Amino acid sequence: MSHLKTIFITGVSSGFGRALAQVALASGYRVIGTVRNASAKTTFEALHAENAFACELDITDFSAIDAVIADVESRIGPIDVLVNNAGYGHEGVMEESSLDELRRQFDVNVFGAVAMIKAVLPFMRQRRRGHIINITSMGGFITLPGISYYCGSKFALEGISETLSQELAPFNIAVTAVAPGSFRTDWAGRSMVRSARSITDYDALFDPIRQAREEKSGKQLGDPVKAAQVILALMENPSPPAHLLLGSDALHLVRQKLTALNQQIDAWEDVSRSTDG
Ligand code: NAP
Repeated sequence: MSHLKTIFITGVSSGFGRALAQVALASGYRVIGTVRNASAKTTFEALHAENAFACELDITDFSAIDAVIADVESRIGPIDVLVNNAGYGHEGVMEESSLDELRRQFDVNVFGAVAMIKAVLPFMRQRRRGHIINITSMGGFITLPGISYYCGSKFALEGISETLSQELAPFNIAVTAVAPGSFRTDWAGRSMVRSARSITDYDALFDPIRQAREEKSGKQLGDPVKAAQVILALMENPSPPAHLLLGSDALHLVRQKLTALNQQIDAWEDVSRSTDG
């Protein structure tokens, strides 16, 4: 089957990455996906005899990334779209969570994504064509006690993504930060890293949040296949947005946050203005 575009997706073993790969393969795209073990590679490549390619890569193996992308470009073909999807959620009250856990969260969700972008950009820039899609989160706009590291990482990726969209516009390379609400993937299940509890002062605030997230896992509102269809359509859109929310929960909560932020800015406007001159 002839392929429409070649897309590179990080993290295709489950969730959004897997759903996007399947929808794209079914539509005739060529998909290269990253996995983290040999059996996931075999499973992924079995999805399509000609168009599914898997690379074993942990995106925090920073020194390996450039060679992986160069190999894909020369052996498989030019990458039209990079989807930075691989990521995970760290859950834990900040005071209880180690700096190593913060570093790991940023290594995967921020540094890994940026390293992937830096590897594909020389090729895309030379071609004056490309699309980078960063899967961020509604947690890149709104916050909730117990996921400060995760929100920090997604705020960071939102900021980098938006800046990059301005830097790359002259080269006809689009950048879109896709911010999903809660979806039925492995995010809150096997993939989540949960810090152990140690400070009872936080019990009343945090225990119900942790419990609710565990109970909701697998029953979230969002359908990853529908998200995949939207993301695929985004790749064919001639002027994709810099930000796109997915899910009515994201829409509601982000709007609420922006309204509250505007109200706070208005309430403190005089103080803000008082430092001029
Ligand atoms: P998922 O089912 O857990 O999938 C995560 C994928 O990322 C897996 O393929 C995983 O590979 C891969 N991955 C994790 N760390 C990696 C690393 N260091 N190197 C390479 N691959 C790595 O969860 P998901 O919800 O689809 O997550 C995809 C993205 O959506 C994440 O960035 C997440 O933060 C974001 N997101 C999810 C939701 C939601 O509600 N589900 C909402 C907003 C944003 P392994 O199988 O090897 O672990």
